[in-house]
Amino acid sequence: MRRCEGPGCCVFFVQHHPRRRYCHVSCAHRDRQARSHRRRVSATTPGAAAAAPGLA
Ligand SMILES: [Zn+2]
Repeated sequence: MRRCEGPGCCVFFVQHHPRRRYCHVSCAHRDRQARSHRRRVSATTPGAAAAAPGLA
């Protein structure tokens, strides 16, 4: 079992694929948008983007 990494989502799901991180594609979409938004916000602070996890 694995917990969905989607923002505001705390659904536990069976991880059929080792790289799967979300219970649903909508969660992946939301998280991607949140990440890009955060990156835009933290673009003025050097090092913040490098410290952001899960970008690889
Ligand atoms: Zn989810």
